[in-house]
This record gives sequence, C-alpha cells and structure tokens, in this order.
Amino acid sequence: MTIGLTEDVRLLKGVGLQRAALLDGRGIRTVEDFLAYLPFRYEDRIRFSTIREVQPGGVYTLRARVASGGALPHARFLRGRDAIYHLLVQDATGSLHCKFFHGGYLEGRLKPGQQLVLHGKAEIDRYRPGRLEMVNPQFEALNDEQEDSTEVGRIVPIYEAIGSFNSRAIRRAMFQALAGLPSQVPDPLPAELLERLGYPSRREALLRAHFPPPQESLEALNAFASPAQERLIFEEFFLYQLSLALGRQAARRENAIAFRVREDRVRQALKRILPFKPTGAQKRALAEIAADLEKPAPMNRLLQGDVGSGKTIVALETAVIALENRCQAALMAPTEILAVQHFLAARRILQPGGYRAELLISGLKPGEKTAARDRIRSGEAQLVIGTHALIEENVEFARLGVVIIDEQHRFGVLQRKRLMDKAASHGRAPHVLVMTATPIPRTLSLTLYGDLDVSVLDELPPGRTPIETRVTSEPHLPGVWESLRREVARGRQGYVVYPVIEESKQELKAAIVEYERLSREVFPKVRLGLLHGRLPSSEKEDVMLRFRTAEVQILVATTVVEVGVDVPNATVMVIEHAERFGLAQLHQLRGRIGRGGEKSHCILVAPLRMTDEAAKRLETMARTSDGFEIAEMDLQFRGPGEFFGTRQHGELGFQVANPLRDRKLLELARREAFALADNVAQAETLRRVLAQLPVHWQRRYHLAQVG
Ligand code: ADP
Ligand code: MG
Repeated sequence: MTIGLTEDVRLLKGVGLQRAALLDGRGIRTVEDFLAYLPFRYEDRIRFSTIREVQPGGVYTLRARVASGGALPHARFLRGRDAIYHLLVQDATGSLHCKFFHGGYLEGRLKPGQQLVLHGKAEIDRYRPGRLEMVNPQFEALNDEQEDSTEVGRIVPIYEAIGSFNSRAIRRAMFQALAGLPSQVPDPLPAELLERLGYPSRREALLRAHFPPPQESLEALNAFASPAQERLIFEEFFLYQLSLALGRQAARRENAIAFRVREDRVRQALKRILPFKPTGAQKRALAEIAADLEKPAPMNRLLQGDVGSGKTIVALETAVIALENRCQAALMAPTEILAVQHFLAARRILQPGGYRAELLISGLKPGEKTAARDRIRSGEAQLVIGTHALIEENVEFARLGVVIIDEQHRFGVLQRKRLMDKAASHGRAPHVLVMTATPIPRTLSLTLYGDLDVSVLDELPPGRTPIETRVTSEPHLPGVWESLRREVARGRQGYVVYPVIEESKQELKAAIVEYERLSREVFPKVRLGLLHGRLPSSEKEDVMLRFRTAEVQILVATTVVEVGVDVPNATVMVIEHAERFGLAQLHQLRGRIGRGGEKSHCILVAPLRMTDEAAKRLETMARTSDGFEIAEMDLQFRGPGEFFGTRQHGELGFQVANPLRDRKLLELARREAFALADNVAQAETLRRVLAQLPVHWQRRYHLAQVG
C-alpha cells in the first residue's frame, strides 16, 4: 500500500494519537516530515562483535543474553531512579559487565535469558582494575522467535528517541513509511544538478539513508558522508540558500528612501553627537551603513561585534542620519532593561542636538503609553526605542525610515518583519540594521545570514584592560566576597549572578534568597540591589538607574543582565553555579565588565564535582575572551541547534543538516543556489524547483510565493 508524502503520520501503523502528539512537538506532522527524521547513528548488525574481542577503549555492537541484573549492592544509598543498575551479559565467547547510572528504571525489566543488542564503549572498571565494563551502553531487546529484518542482519538505523517513542519503534514506523513510498517522489533538485554532483534521486536517498544497503560504508554513514545523506543535507541547505537568494532579490526590488548623507549638515550632526573618538572599526561600519542609506534600495545589514565593541553608538549615528533626513528611526531591544538603557543613552547623546527620543515598553502606565503612541503617530517622536511593544498593532509611525534591531538573535524573523511593515504604510521599505554580539564563527556567518550584508566591529575601544577570569568552588566563597568587598571599597561596583529567581526543586541558589542573605550576612555595610525578570518595569528601571549612578554598589541579578547592560564602573562579576550556564551565555555575562579602564575580574563559582563538559566550558572561559574562539568551542560542545538558540534553529529549520559538520556542503549549496537564482536563463528550472518543494519547506519559508 502506498502512503502519500503529504499524508498524516497517524496513517502509519504504530503511530497512534500519543506518538503523533510527540512527533507534533518536533514539528513532524506529515509522512514527509517523518522521513526527514534521519538516524543519528548506524550499527553494523550483519557481523556482531563477540565479547572475547572487546578491548578497553573500543566501541562495539554486541549481541548477547542477559545473565543477571540488579541495583549495585554497594551503592544502595542511591535509590529509586538514581540507583546504579548492574547488568551481566554473555554470549558464546564470554561475559561482560555493564553499568547504568540512573538505572533504576531498568529494575525488573530485563529477564535472564533475554536477547539484547548492546552498543557502547568498553572501559576498565575504575573500582576493579582489570575488569572490563560498558557504562551506560545503548541497548535494544530482541524478540526471540522470529527475527524482524529491520532489527538484525543489516546495517540498522538508530534514531534519537522522541520522548517515549524509542528508536526501535521509530525504526518500525519508518520502515513502513518507506515501504509505502510512492514510485514517484517529487524531487526539488534539478536533474542536471544531481547528475553533475553524482547524487541519487530524493526517493533513493531516503531509502538508503534510513536503511542502507549492506555494501554502504559504516564509517561514511556515521560521518554523515554517504551519498544518500549528503544529498539530503545538500537539499536542505540548497533550499535554504535559495530562499535567501530570492529574498534578497525581492528586497532589492523594493523602494526605500535614499538619504542624503554627505551634506555638511549631516556630517556636522554626526560629529556633534559623538562622545568619544570612534574606533577604526566603528568608522568603517558607519561608512558602510552610510553608503547603503544613500541608495534607493533598502539597507539590509548585520552589524556584528563582540560584547563591548561599541555597537550602540553606531546605531545612534545611523538613527541620526534618518532624523536629519526628516524620517523617524526605531530601535528594538529584547529586554526592557536594555531598552531603558538605550533610551537613557539616546537622551544623553541626542538631546543636546535637539532630537526627541521616545521610550515605548509595555511597563509604561496606560496614559503614558497612549501619549507616546500619539507622539509616534504625529512624528513628534523621532527616535523610538522599545521592546516588543513597538510591534503591537496600535503603534503607527508617521514616517519610519530606519529600523534597528539590537541583539537580533533574540528575535524571530517574523518580529523583524513586523517592525519593517510599520514603514510600509507610506509605501517605502525601511532601511534595516540588525546587531548581534553572538559571535558566529566567521566561516558560518555569511552563509547563514546570506541575505544580509555584514559589517564587523573587530576592534575594542581603546583603554580596556583584559578581564581576568578564574574558576573557584563553593568553599572559597568567603575569599570571593572579600575581594568583591575590596573592589567596592575602592569605589568600584560588581555583579553577582544566579541561575534562578526563586528557590526551586533543583537546589540551585536563587537570586531573591541570596540577595537577602548577602545583604544581611555578608555585605551589611554595602548597598545592594536586586534585579530579575519578574520585577515590575518601574522597579527594574529604578534599580538600573541606581546601579548606573553607583548608588547601588553590588547588583544581585539573574541572567537579565546578560544582554547589553553597560555600566563601565562595574569591575567584578561573580557567577554562582557557573556550571549551569552555556559558553555563549557566560561570555555575554562577562561582557558586562571590563568596559572601563580599570582591571576587571570575573569569578566563576562551581561545585568541585561537575561533568567533564562543564569543566571544559569553564576552563575555556578562564583561558580566552576571544568571542570567536568561544563560539567555535560552543559549537563543538553543543552543536549548532542549541548554539543558534532554539528560536533561530527552529527558524532555520535544519532537520538533516548541521552547519558546522557540513560546512563544505553548505558552501557548495550556497554557490549552486545563488547561481540558479541569479541566472535569468534558468528561470524555467527555478520554477520547477519551486513547484516541487517539499511541503515543510513551503510551510516554513513560503518559498513558493517568494519566487
Ligand atoms: P556593545 O557592542 O556590547 O553593544 P556598547 O555599545 O554598549 O557595546 O559599548 C560598550 C562601552 O564602550 C560603552 O560604555 C560605550 O560608551 C563605550 N565605547 C564605545 N565606543 C567607544 C569608543 N570609540 N571609545 C571609547 N569608548 C567607547
Ligand atoms: Mg549592545
């Protein structure tokens, strides 16, 4: 029976309501979506290893029977789910110990005699030198009677479980989906391209990527480098790049207001607002922006610069060019704290020039908000700074010429678009500048943001001294507080950051509780402030203001201070539970200090025992402050999905591809896609590609309409 690609996944046997709901959580609704869920690993179950062959350090797939199993007796203090489960398995050649941490769930589930396929790395037992074991091997129970051809005797795909929908069940459903594949599967890649690159058709690629033929190289498969996998990865990148190429073309066809930039009046205005001598990088970036603004096509530029590189002033200069051209500018920031800070900076810098800045955040009182909206509508408000409140429906601009988005990785593409649409009322597209400190590895940024032109601030303002970072543990906290107290006594300020606002089950120190405790017990003579996301806006504003004016000396906070906060007199940052934070986040947090001429210290407090990965993260932080190096490490630790943040990842929507692992394919796909989009002679091929688009691509990018 054939099952069409656009059919509901529930048509597959074994996918009931519950599993369909799990799949739905991953955006998998149709059979086609499901087919894009590729195995993350493959096992050779044609020829299993035997227990006798097992050597320390090797990775093996074994077929063995359960001899005995149970909670480890000498670790009885670990109960329930946390128990360490011990399993002894044997085959014809010998027996092997396996240990499962948090293995309580296995109790009673594995019966002696049961057949298993086990996969894992063999190691020497730390507590019994000389004995080999596998720790937390992956395993599947096999049916004894009739052996399913999907389970053994072939290269078997292993899927990442989706909740309770485990690898084996996914495999079975996938087998069915593939068995029901129609004889013709639409293929968006042009035949000429497939031939040139030596790729299989989409249909064949799907079959071979899920259930590889026996002659396929296991090594290539596990490196995602088999022709079938490469083709599917390429396809994903290709369509993504095509959407960028077409989007860029469409944007170039739009009209924007061409600003006058070179006139003396504008130059004077720019000179007047600058509070300091710009760095070479800032000058370069502004020149690139100015050149865009002069054109009647909308600017679409990314300003990328590490934390503290001075993006804000470039944004304000950009706004001033718009203002001098009798247009409004809007600056959107992801948090109220940051919006308020930008507003204060804008007022400080722009008011002497007679420009009027306006703040619009949801925390304003209703009356204030209405008044602000009126001024935005009449054009009296020239530079409007705010949060998501800016894109609410009832906000109308008189003449919006420039849209600036700070920390753009915190926003979705749709939010950016909605702000841009505010300019559409007067029939012109706005110039857009997006800014980010997320240090995207150089090799990736152009390719991922292929529709944006990029300016980079690769130079820090002068006079900064490098931040000294050290890692320490709880028992040393008294010493940490002592050094913080010393800094405060010298007139400096500091941050103490906690991972959560309130006490929780996870036994993490919480900002509110620690604020009380620190005020009372540790720093009775110091002025402390508390800042977290759940405070009312007015309180947030108030405490930020008091921190800025040094009335608050130590700010106890959650990661709300992560983005953008700029108080140069703060020279110490203590981060408790530093092991809980990702690298990018730590880097952002640390970017709050080292902003003045004084030497700054970042102290990462972590427990003595933590995962190897956490230890490596902290070690990386202590070693380097180069945002790009940290980004590369982060990418290696976490993979690009998390690196780009769920929001962005979801939007990029890569299911098969991994921009880091598959860089070469990404570059190839970019070249091919842009060549196709830009080549007028290939319009017919392009039309055919768009007509054959997989449904999930249509859904994601509305690609079909773009072309
Ligand atoms: P970010 O790029 O992280 O947004 P900011 O724009 O907040 O950085 O700038 C960081 C700090 O550096 C601010 O205090 C700002 O006033 C200061 N700064 C920016 N550019 C210069 C410069 N050219 N010379 C001196 N200080 C500067
Ligand atoms: Mg900033």
